[in-house]
Amino acid sequence: MANIEISCEFFPPRDEKATDSLVNNVAARLAQLPPAYFSVTYGAGGSTRDGTRETVRQLLAQGYTTSPHLSLGTDDEQTLYQLLADYTDMGVTQIVALRGDQPSGFGANRFTNNAERLVSLIRAHCGDQFKLIVAAYPEVHPDAKSATSDLEFFQRKVDAGADKAITQYFYNVDAYEDFLERCAQARIDIPIVPGIMPITGYESLIRFSRGCGAEIPRWLDYKLQPFADDDKAIAEIGDEVVTRLCEKLIALGAPALHFYTLNRWGATTRICQRLDLTAA
Ligand code: FAD
Repeated sequence: MANIEISCEFFPPRDEKATDSLVNNVAARLAQLPPAYFSVTYGAGGSTRDGTRETVRQLLAQGYTTSPHLSLGTDDEQTLYQLLADYTDMGVTQIVALRGDQPSGFGANRFTNNAERLVSLIRAHCGDQFKLIVAAYPEVHPDAKSATSDLEFFQRKVDAGADKAITQYFYNVDAYEDFLERCAQARIDIPIVPGIMPITGYESLIRFSRGCGAEIPRWLDYKLQPFADDDKAIAEIGDEVVTRLCEKLIALGAPALHFYTLNRWGATTRICQRLDLTAA
């Protein structure tokens, strides 16, 4: 059995029924892998504040180690500190600190409450109480002026007190290898965990990737596109492609794998089984 830590990301479901299904079905199945922790995303601007907190609470209540994502958005510091106090009471020990995808209309103001500021505020208010994870972009964040300035902003988050990073997903392993090399040259030495997006649908993958700046390599697009209307075929090709990607990342020495599950258990489980990562 291969030996590498995995973690699994969820988004907060829309209603109670979906939350119940996530906690008691999806998380219960993924827990058999088992992941080191689940994480739950946060809508910038506080749009999912209650949903994220409630999903985190329910996952913790089932005994699953869970890390909330958090961003400042338009929240004031008191709102942030209250949320941190709530998480302290729940027993949370690790937070994913982000700028978040801001609601439209923010313009250049979206940089004011960036991830570096959030990391600094949490460290100033809570000291070393929480382990802090930040985002990293091997293929460069779409807002960046250049790869160099993007790396500088990443370095600032690390200097502010981040312990670890998880990357945006990518299908081009060279981008990750190059990013690790550039981090090493800049003496950034925190673990950089690749984010893994299983492929389960063609149109959704193309749309989502365009939005977040993840490149779908030409060879992969050509492989998937003929089966765009056949989700079963896309999932089969996707499992094979993403398993091979993970194998290469493990061979490169990736410290862990973080799966963007989209609140589904099937593809992540199949990939982990192919990688022989499952405990069962
Ligand atoms: P930052 O690190 O603050 O900035 C991102 C980039 O913007 C920088 O690399 C830099 O190029 C540029 N930048 C930053 N500050 C400045 C400045 N002052 N001036 C000029 N340029 C600047 N989104 C959500 O809404 N909710 C989530 O829960 C969520 N979880 C995520 C988890 C992971 C692992 C990843 C990789 C992404 C996640 N995202 C989430 C998406 C993320 O919020 C977006 O990519 C967002 O646009 C940037 O967030 P960040 O924390 O990387 O921002």
